[in-house]
Amino acid sequence: MENIDIWNKGLTLIKKNLNNDIFELWFKPTTFKSYDNGEVNISVPNRYCGEWLKTNYYGLIRDALINITQEKDIKINFVPAKEREKTEETEIIKQAPVKSTLFQEKRMLNKKYNFENFIVGPSNQFAHAAALAVAENPGKSYNPLFIYGGVGLGKTHLINAIGDHVARNKPDVKIIYLTAEQFTNEVVAAIRYDKMYAFKEKYRNIDMLLVDDIQFFSGKDKSQEEFFYTFNALYEAHRPVVMSSDKYPKEMLKIEERLRSRFEWGLIADIQQPDFETRMAILKQKAELENIKLPEDVILFLVDAIKTNIRVLEGALIRLGAYGSLTGKPITVELAKDILKATISEKEKTITSDAIQKATSEYFQIKLVEIKSKKRTKNLVMPRQVAMYLCRELTALSYPEIGKCFGGKDHTTVMHACRQIEKLKEKESRLKDIVDALIKTLKA
Ligand code: ADP
Ligand code: MG
Repeated sequence: MENIDIWNKGLTLIKKNLNNDIFELWFKPTTFKSYDNGEVNISVPNRYCGEWLKTNYYGLIRDALINITQEKDIKINFVPAKEREKTEETEIIKQAPVKSTLFQEKRMLNKKYNFENFIVGPSNQFAHAAALAVAENPGKSYNPLFIYGGVGLGKTHLINAIGDHVARNKPDVKIIYLTAEQFTNEVVAAIRYDKMYAFKEKYRNIDMLLVDDIQFFSGKDKSQEEFFYTFNALYEAHRPVVMSSDKYPKEMLKIEERLRSRFEWGLIADIQQPDFETRMAILKQKAELENIKLPEDVILFLVDAIKTNIRVLEGALIRLGAYGSLTGKPITVELAKDILKATISEKEKTITSDAIQKATSEYFQIKLVEIKSKKRTKNLVMPRQVAMYLCRELTALSYPEIGKCFGGKDHTTVMHACRQIEKLKEKESRLKDIVDALIKTLKA
């Protein structure tokens, strides 16, 4: 066997153990360099690639190579291709058309979402006011602005509205809107294609950065690091950064502390679940925009049945509208119930805190009154924390509301409980099994 075959065969073995995208991204660009005395040198496009392979796939690579060489042990070195000078790098970027998203300059805001069509109600007026303040006075008001709220409650709408407002008033302003997932993809592409310098340049030179769904950064260390640097650079230059998340900064595990604390520097504005009137107003506006005509009692039925997610509410409206126009049948409440059976029972089957407390105390064989009590004996603390955690996961109750259900505990106690269980669950698979079993029982 020629030495070079060691790596080729190694790659074939490795490929079997990996998802194809990952293989293409990290292993495809590597080449064999040398093999001597139990040491294999592999050439990688750059230092980042080498570090990435080393941290994430060292064991896998070593096993494959031991398998092929039949050596007792194998050491692998990742040798970066020569790092280029900055100026040269810029040149190369100009020449090389890269198919990744990295150089797709204009990140489009979603034109559908603006302040004019955002309905303001008690559940979102604070977030709306904060967003408007940033849009009217970018850089001079809250920085960063962190919009926090449950899924489908208007975060993406608001963050786009900010961009839209600024772009309309100042067409020259360079705004980037993207999701944390897209940001992560860009980081990966930049590493992969050796364009980190261009990546940094691009983000340091904008006037406003809007990042949606920041919870996606959880556990993505390299992206967090890059975002951290980007954030600092913009912040120091008084350029506004707006972020949205469906998790409160404190709830975001696997986010580095230094980044978490940045999230809290400016203003955190939350969006709550909309009340009846707000849902009604949003649905009516949507019906008008989409030119869908439904009888008043059907609208009422929808607004009543779907409370926790406006996207689902709008989806139901569209479905009924489509059904009506395709079949020509008039939509009645009965028909609506039938058409939306799946949507409504799935999304809105309400699990109550009572049911959770009952199931949890039964599981741990403690008394229901004890789970709500203030007693801090060891056999009670954990079940109580599990029950609080489940309330947070399975109901729409806020921390203070959950506290109330547990005999008037402070919201910080509930927050602590949720984080505690979240952490323990990762470490102890038994606890994870218990929690999963309880969720299953409650959902059944
Ligand atoms: P999130 O990003 O919080 O998951 P979105 O911003 O995507 O939610 O909102 C879901 C849908 O609900 C969108 O179509 C959005 O336009 C609509 N929506 C949410 N809140 C409002 C509101 N206050 N006024 C009008 N439409 C809203
Ligand atoms: Mg969103």
